[in-house]
Amino acid sequence: MTRKIKLAMIASLLGLSLGLPMAEPMPVEASADWGSIIGAVIGGASAYKQIDQQMDYVNNTEEGRQQYFAKMKEEQGVSYDAYYNSMLDEIMTNLSNGIAASDPSINDKPFLYFLNTDTSFNAACGLGHVMTVNIGLFSISDNTDEVAFVLGHEMGHGMKDHVVKGTRKKLNTIIGAQVAAGALGGGQLANMAMSAMVGQINNVQITKKNEWEADNLSFDYCYQAGYNPGAGAALWQRVFEKEGEFKNNLLGEIFSPNDHPGHEERRDNYTKKLVALSGKHASLKKDSDMVQVNGKDFVTPSATSSMSSAERKYFVLGNLAAAYDHGQNKYEATASGGTVYLGNQAILTPTGDDPSAEVLAKRLNEIK
Ligand SMILES: [Zn+2]
Repeated sequence: MTRKIKLAMIASLLGLSLGLPMAEPMPVEASADWGSIIGAVIGGASAYKQIDQQMDYVNNTEEGRQQYFAKMKEEQGVSYDAYYNSMLDEIMTNLSNGIAASDPSINDKPFLYFLNTDTSFNAACGLGHVMTVNIGLFSISDNTDEVAFVLGHEMGHGMKDHVVKGTRKKLNTIIGAQVAAGALGGGQLANMAMSAMVGQINNVQITKKNEWEADNLSFDYCYQAGYNPGAGAALWQRVFEKEGEFKNNLLGEIFSPNDHPGHEERRDNYTKKLVALSGKHASLKKDSDMVQVNGKDFVTPSATSSMSSAERKYFVLGNLAAAYDHGQNKYEATASGGTVYLGNQAILTPTGDDPSAEVLAKRLNEIK
């Protein structure tokens, strides 16, 4: 294989349209910084050491992560959609505050995020708490609570540094090939590392164990931020239902079938957490969409124009779980303004074929 072909292969691996040797140089001042860290020409072992230094620079210095963030925006394109940007800002602010309640380290490294123009359903978190969110995320759901669970999952990866190992592996492979080909001078390693971090953000392997941890963290973050804790299970029910419709868009970090658990597994994990949160007072009837309280039937929520009965039941279960967790079951269930409450916690607003709020409040008082 000629060196030219090898380099072309590496270029395509990077997802970049590279000229030779490198089409996307860093800004001049950045190159100077990186160049001073790295010698003029590097060998194999020192290349790996320097990859670690680059990663540390991006992950742990403000300057490095800002550079990475700027490069990511340039590469992916920024969406200026006002509606979804303001929704994203609101959710990120709420989740960040929720995380800070249990993990104040977020204040030292607040998330840098942006909405990109990709229409597939995805979001990803790279090093340095840099997050990119596809506008296509909202095509499956623009329910704030459900979107919060996706973003919370990515923030979980960020807070626990889940991408470090996978990123290092990716960079070692890509840059190791360049070093072996004798194609890499010192200054180029920096550019190549940065480009690879940007280009590979959706391809970094994360272990299944870490995926579960991110899902579980998202549950805590969303609940602490005041979102309906049932929205995670609802989201995965929704994805499960819409899988056929969105088949070609369910790719990338969130859905990668290789390293993520299945949709139903993720939904069922969240359901278990809801039952536990309620102190086992609220649950679902086996093989049905019936929400139960203390083992007695409460309601099978009817479908709405935008949500199936199956999906909507998780929101009801989530509200019941929150009510029990907050001790609101000590108070009466009431109907007010067309909504059923348990104490001060809204449970559901009947619609479609649902029984009236009065009927449901009465039923809830009998079984709570
Ligand atoms: Zn993930």
